[in-house]
Amino acid sequence: MEIVLATRNRKKVEEIRRITEGTGIKILTMDDFPGCPETEEDGDTFEENAVKKAVAVAKYTGKTALADDSGLEVDALGGEPGTRSARYSGEGADDKRNVGKLLNEMRAFHEGERGGRFVCCIALASPDGTIRTFFGHAEGAIGNVPKGFRGFGYDPVFYPRGFLQTFGEMSNEGKDALSHRGKALEKLKKHLKSIC
Ligand code: IMP
Repeated sequence: MEIVLATRNRKKVEEIRRITEGTGIKILTMDDFPGCPETEEDGDTFEENAVKKAVAVAKYTGKTALADDSGLEVDALGGEPGTRSARYSGEGADDKRNVGKLLNEMRAFHEGERGGRFVCCIALASPDGTIRTFFGHAEGAIGNVPKGFRGFGYDPVFYPRGFLQTFGEMSNEGKDALSHRGKALEKLKKHLKSIC
């Protein structure tokens, strides 16, 4: 079975390839469909954005498409940055600036008030219009300073619950076993096994 990944984020493509390894699924990427138009992530929920992206790519390519939308919800910030995680620091946002803004917003909050979670919604859209969604959550807390150079995004400031290392300090395998995307992909994998 072939699945097109509706993302241009290389780190995500790597993670998804790693997690689907050995399933017999052939992963295609947007590089295989250079003319595919970008979808704006303007939905209010992770699910809305993931479904919108997957449906657009399935329509364009005529193949089953997989999209994910993910982000960090911080309780003390009323769930922010949420669906705005990638562009949290505004125009020209990048991982470093986003993390900087988050740490600044969190400076008044002490241990015990720094809880949050990564959320991932994966949408699988078939060219015939069938849509399935799969969710994963990783509960944890926001650190005071960045630690570690692995992963991407907010990984260096996210301590998964029960661990003294950030995602940025963990091996790929360590993060995959705990991460929101890893958990959503496990559910997807079960589904694919049941239909392949
Ligand atoms: P999107 O899902 O491509 O819209 O991007 C979501 C944003 O959330 C990313 O740019 C990161 O800032 C953040 N994010 C999502 N998943 C992770 C993760 O596994 N680690 C760190 N940051 C993440």
